[in-house]
Amino acid sequence: MTITVASGKGGTGKTTIATALAMLWPEPVALLDADVEEPNCRFFLDTTEGKQREVFLPVPQIDEAICTGCGACSSFCRYGALVRIGKKVMTFPNLCHSCGACMMVCPEGAISEKPSFIGTIDSAQFRALDGSLRTHRWGTLKLGAAMAPPLIRELRREKDKEPLQLIDSPPGASCPMANAVKNADLVLMVAENTPFGAHDLEKAISTLEEMDLPVLALINRADLGGGEAEAVCRRKGIDIIGRVPFDRKVAESYARGVHPILEVPAFRQAVEQVVGHLIAFLQTSIEQKT
Ligand code: SF4
Ligand code: SF4
Repeated sequence: MTITVASGKGGTGKTTIATALAMLWPEPVALLDADVEEPNCRFFLDTTEGKQREVFLPVPQIDEAICTGCGACSSFCRYGALVRIGKKVMTFPNLCHSCGACMMVCPEGAISEKPSFIGTIDSAQFRALDGSLRTHRWGTLKLGAAMAPPLIRELRREKDKEPLQLIDSPPGASCPMANAVKNADLVLMVAENTPFGAHDLEKAISTLEEMDLPVLALINRADLGGGEAEAVCRRKGIDIIGRVPFDRKVAESYARGVHPILEVPAFRQAVEQVVGHLIAFLQTSIEQKT
């Protein structure tokens, strides 16, 4: 099963909550950091030495000796990864979605594929609060690369020994987030009660509605702001399963790189309650499917 922890805007505490859930979960769980532009989960975790592999995507290369400059490929590519200038075609691998269509439309057979490096996937283990070692994997997008979705898909493609995957999604409501939540059994939105937070939460929930995914919400720093995110949840019919109060000690732990569940009992208690709600939700959904 898969739970994805997501947020409309950055800075809501999504990663802090995702790592807290992974450390507190009473059964084995694999934590995947799909926030591939800023994979920060590991900074909170006690991890073992890991291994890394490189990820490549096939992109077109054009044989100039064969190309006639007809422009069929650049006209067809809807991503702007091929641009014809005069009789020459320039390639922009960072924009290529590796669909292979340009190879098919080229009447001269002038296009072949070459691998293009898009990032890395690391695998290690982290120690949970019960002392067990659990899988942690994270993707790191190549600096300057625009293609987070293929790296996120590759990260999710691997199977782990743990029966539950917890995914820390990129913030936002567009393609990277959609790839991190796709086919999840549950999406937990971490939101904050500010006008910006509510606006971005609503956009993200609209994406999740389009994808027909079950959603629950957690309000972080719940006693700050004017209740805007809670109003969005009420309007959208989304259950709020936790309210984590603002606590200066949480910010102090965070600033020192120490996870607040290790130092702030009230924070840990609030997350433990959320774990209970999530387990109950998953059990109910399993019962409904059988
Ligand atoms: S493989 Fe697809 S996305 Fe990439 S350049 Fe060719 S047509 Fe464009
Ligand atoms: S379709 Fe083929 S021949 Fe035409 S411009 Fe592209 S690479 Fe050259």
